[in-house]
Amino acid sequence: MKTIGLLGGMSWESTVTYYQLINRGVQKRLGGLHSAPLLLSSFDFAAVAKLQADGEWGLLADLLCDHAQRLQRAGAEAVMICTNTMHKLAPQVEEAAGIPLLHIADATALALKEQGVSRAGLLGTRFTMEQGFYAERLQRHGIDTLIPDTAQRDVVHNVIYEELCRGEINTASRQQYCDIIADLQLQGAEAVILGCTEIGLLVQAEHCTVPLVDTAVVHAQAAVEFVLGESAAEWE
Ligand code: GLU
Repeated sequence: MKTIGLLGGMSWESTVTYYQLINRGVQKRLGGLHSAPLLLSSFDFAAVAKLQADGEWGLLADLLCDHAQRLQRAGAEAVMICTNTMHKLAPQVEEAAGIPLLHIADATALALKEQGVSRAGLLGTRFTMEQGFYAERLQRHGIDTLIPDTAQRDVVHNVIYEELCRGEINTASRQQYCDIIADLQLQGAEAVILGCTEIGLLVQAEHCTVPLVDTAVVHAQAAVEFVLGESAAEWE
């Protein structure tokens, strides 16, 4: 098996999901007591979130690149950033690490294409919804994205930082998300991307009538394929 290095803790609530899904996926394929060879570099999210809010993307790039290099030196053969938002820095991280980066938007696009979707709603932090780095990557795969309106984006963003990344799951917030997802469907979204790795903790398929793609789930699946040597050609 190949070893993957995870840049996690952003937040740790979703890094738990990654750790569980990657290990379960390997155990399911290989059986017995098998689990995945993983290295984890987990950040203090308070520091990361403050730098994000202050727009200090250069400092964040330095931080992630440093940790990606540590993972590479420790034996990682690929690196993954366990958050959509921090994929804003994916090109720098991949270059600094000198090993493949399993990009969350590539895994998401593959899942959408498998479902025959070419137009998807995108929920995530304001950075992910508004800044284009994510939508542009999906566009390369032929996927167009729709985002909620300004007031709805505020709700989605604030619930992520004020609730989900603190381990709080609130029914009222779930209803707000479901209403926003229904609006995106009305506007023509054939599926909705849970483009923040914690949203799947709040909203699942049974809460909505439109198909959902949980980015933490599809990213973890991509990790399982890499560990087992079955990755899509572009990641090799
Ligand atoms: N985990 C979230 C994401 O997937 C948000 C936390 C962050 O800003 O990194 O974007």
